[in-house]
Amino acid sequence: MTTIVFATNNQHKIDEVSQMLDNQFNIKTLSEIGCYEDIPETQSTIEGNALQKARYIHQKFGINCFAEDTGLEVHALGGEPGVLSARYAGEHGNAEKNMLKLLSNLENKTDRSAQFKTVVALILDDTEYLFEGLCKGNIRLEKSGNGGFGYDPIFEPIGYTQTFGELSADIKNTISHRAKAIGLLKVFLKK
Ligand code: IMP
Repeated sequence: MTTIVFATNNQHKIDEVSQMLDNQFNIKTLSEIGCYEDIPETQSTIEGNALQKARYIHQKFGINCFAEDTGLEVHALGGEPGVLSARYAGEHGNAEKNMLKLLSNLENKTDRSAQFKTVVALILDDTEYLFEGLCKGNIRLEKSGNGGFGYDPIFEPIGYTQTFGELSADIKNTISHRAKAIGLLKVFLKK
């Protein structure tokens, strides 16, 4: 079975990706390889950050790995918060503040369309590969649901009447940006 490291410290992402890969690969986490540090993500694009995280672990540990970076791109805000999604309100990873800022910036906007974009960067046998997944939807007027993480309570995917915060993990992990990017990774790794 292929052994590969998922370069993230985000337990939500580990849970989601483990469910998506349904035990077909031996996925190791950073703590399992003895890496307890924050991985830098200082690039100006989602692709750049995904590659930066994968390269960091590959260079330090000399091991096959993949990393992912995700952003929420809101049409009426010219694609913001995009690569800045984690620190939109200033503090890294404060989901409550990030959602409040986004809802406030969208006040009086009729176009509430948005998409999540995930880029997975894989480094396998010293070669780099990128896989992208998009999930289109709309930003609600207010939060709804406690499931998922990050911006999930305000994002309603196209074709559904509930937010990612209300939909089950099974549904989110079938239709999400991350599910699509990881699906491509899965097909690639199986070849
Ligand atoms: P990063 O990929 O960890 O840098 O995440 C960027 C930002 O997007 C963080 O604020 C995350 O909480 C948020 N985010 C990432 N993935 C998702 C998701 O699947 N749903 C909602 N928010 C997400």
